[in-house]
Amino acid sequence: MDFSTSRQIVEKGSSRPRIAVASIIQETNTFSLQPSSYADFETQGVWFGEEIITRSAGLNLEISGSMTRLAELEFIAVPVMRAWAMSGGVLEEKSFRRLRNELMDGLKSAGMIDGVILNLHGALVSDEEFHCDARLVEDVREFVGTDMPIVVTHDLHANVGTRIVAAATAVIGYKTYPHIDQGDTGARAAELISVALARKGTMKTVLQKVNILIPAEIQPILDYPMNVVRELADSHLDQEILDISLFPVQPWLDVPELGFGFLITTVGSREKAQGIGKSLAQKLWEIKDKFLLKLVTLDEAIRIIHSAPQTKPFVLVQSADATPGGATGDDAAVLAALLLANPPISSAMTLVDAAGVAECKAAGVGAKVDMNIGSSLDGRWSKPVRLTGTVTRVSSDPIVLTGPVMNGQEVSMGDWVTVDSGHGVQVLITQRPAPTFDPSAYVQAGLNITDLAAVQVRSCALFRSGFAGLFTDALILDLAGATTPNLASLDFQNIPRPMFPIDKDVSLLDVIYN
Ligand SMILES: [Zn+2]
Repeated sequence: MDFSTSRQIVEKGSSRPRIAVASIIQETNTFSLQPSSYADFETQGVWFGEEIITRSAGLNLEISGSMTRLAELEFIAVPVMRAWAMSGGVLEEKSFRRLRNELMDGLKSAGMIDGVILNLHGALVSDEEFHCDARLVEDVREFVGTDMPIVVTHDLHANVGTRIVAAATAVIGYKTYPHIDQGDTGARAAELISVALARKGTMKTVLQKVNILIPAEIQPILDYPMNVVRELADSHLDQEILDISLFPVQPWLDVPELGFGFLITTVGSREKAQGIGKSLAQKLWEIKDKFLLKLVTLDEAIRIIHSAPQTKPFVLVQSADATPGGATGDDAAVLAALLLANPPISSAMTLVDAAGVAECKAAGVGAKVDMNIGSSLDGRWSKPVRLTGTVTRVSSDPIVLTGPVMNGQEVSMGDWVTVDSGHGVQVLITQRPAPTFDPSAYVQAGLNITDLAAVQVRSCALFRSGFAGLFTDALILDLAGATTPNLASLDFQNIPRPMFPIDKDVSLLDVIYN
């Protein structure tokens, strides 16, 4: 991109352009039974104004990337608010209203501004609003008027729809999955703001949707088959086509306009961008069968672990109960299988169970416990399991992520304990979900995972970067749940039909929004 024109504006103008930057990020899973509220944001920290600069310094966040790049481009970044929560069920409307009000109050007190960058997830749903992110951008658009550039960044799992594209000047997304480019994405938004200011009124984003849902397990961008589409998109970038973002969408979202999205941001003709969208949709449709997954039953997984010679643990991928995807993390199916394994399998796993944590905490380190745990939040998919063992640690310390995804970010697990079953299984039981896309939760809980035969993760694909080099193979388990890879098992009511791969006789719906 060429920034010389925008620099000229800065030099000619009496003052440097001021760009408001705000971030409200949560991914909703509409199949989760656990509603989300403002408290989920407060747990991870809601920051306002100047506080954002000190708190986000050095972190790989969109908002820090945006602010750093804005400063490099000689703009003044005006931090407004930053609210982030772990993925969860539908957000209570009153909590969403509070976030909306805080964003607008912050913008109103930001003084004169020349542009707005909004770092949003793109899959936030409230009790009363299917497209909360669009609503936030509409609020901001109404306040700043039609001419001011608003650039939006999204997670790659955003469900991008008509309203947000209409309200924003440009919408872009992460280019990585597992996501490691939050900061870079924020920086790209800053660059687009500078171009939008320099080339007044010419920037637009065209949206092409495709009626395809892809299990998260097979979405990693650099791997086949996603790399085919990503490379084709990259081949279209030029002086006019400034950004092409792919949104394979997180599939546990029962909302209108659900589907794979391509966003093409251009300062050239709309028709050319639409043509590129169509060709990308066509390519994706041609190779859609390559996105069908091979799943392993729990029995098969146990057999594989027993029979394989190994120097590193297998990863038992309990993606059907993936907390980064908004599931509750309390499904006990894997625990049950590991406790029954004969011969025993040396293993580590996590489970959300607040009552279990309290019981272990009351018993204390070194005490024997005998309790039923699991399925305490969502009883639809598994039964509680009897766990006997010894409490080995009790704590409430947060985890600091050490892998490439959100490196340095502190994550609260609430109170937590570790229990050694005496049968090879070590269980990290937490009040709030433990992040298992990164080994730090296990490591910081004192569990040495490198010598084990198996490590369970409640993650679809993010773990592949956090655990890179640490495991023999990843076994994707064929289990039911709010984040199941078996998408046909979910009861969708609101999405466009037909939808690949859950409907038979699918044809490509010809849908462009712009
Ligand atoms: Zn994501």
